[in-house]
Amino acid sequence: MAEMTKQSGCSRQLSADNFIKFLGTAGARFVMIKQLRASGGIWVSCAGTNVLVDPGPGSIVRCAQSRPRLDPCSIDAIILTHRHLDHAGDINVMIEAMTEGGFKKRGAVFCPADAVGQDSVILKHVMNFPCEVKILKANRRYRIGNFEFTTSPGHKHPVETYGIKFKIKKDTVSLLSDTAYFGGLNKFYKTDILIINVVFLKPRAGVQHLSLTDARQLIKDTKPKKTILTHFGMSMLKAGPDLQAQKLAKSLNSEVFSAYDGMALKFG
Ligand SMILES: [Zn+2]
Ligand SMILES: [Zn+2]
Repeated sequence: MAEMTKQSGCSRQLSADNFIKFLGTAGARFVMIKQLRASGGIWVSCAGTNVLVDPGPGSIVRCAQSRPRLDPCSIDAIILTHRHLDHAGDINVMIEAMTEGGFKKRGAVFCPADAVGQDSVILKHVMNFPCEVKILKANRRYRIGNFEFTTSPGHKHPVETYGIKFKIKKDTVSLLSDTAYFGGLNKFYKTDILIINVVFLKPRAGVQHLSLTDARQLIKDTKPKKTILTHFGMSMLKAGPDLQAQKLAKSLNSEVFSAYDGMALKFG
């Protein structure tokens, strides 16, 4: 799939393939801690620009084990939707990889303000490695190379959190990161492909995560061409994400799939 060439010890992926690859589908603490699903985040290649969203623990391992291999030196930007460890665990090592060990100033990091505040998830010594560390704000448009994305309104989550929306080839895609359900979600997340972090099978009072019940409502409201469920917590894993996706698809008469580690969506 990827054309490779040698450059400063790192092989660059020059391919202009357009794809989204799930380097992990774990959501919440226990699925991550036990690695019942991997927690490497989502790799997006868009017209030659490579973006890694939410490099959780094991992201660098998942890149190396990916077939074809994904070269972390070819990442142009890292986007952090929020500072929680299942999203940010490998951010420092991925910044180091993106900048070839810190020897080559390149790439950008996008993250909410509280990810780099007092208790920064990005270590001081890697902070100057990328060309820029850009602070995300709600409802803004950002660009890196051939990849342009818009941030969502602020999510309802214990830390500052944004989902993103972008275009890849002809399709609009949204990544709906961790949040409690709220009415405003369906306005922003109206896209051809909707990727939803579905942690719980059923809503849990006081815990700010989406459940399958919320996902059903969102699909009904936003009518995407295709929905991908991911970021599963224990209750979703036990209920069988595939089975739940099939049930939703049938009852809503809509394409709904559950993501698995290593799954790729290709855009022709
Ligand atoms: Zn999470
Ligand atoms: Zn979270």
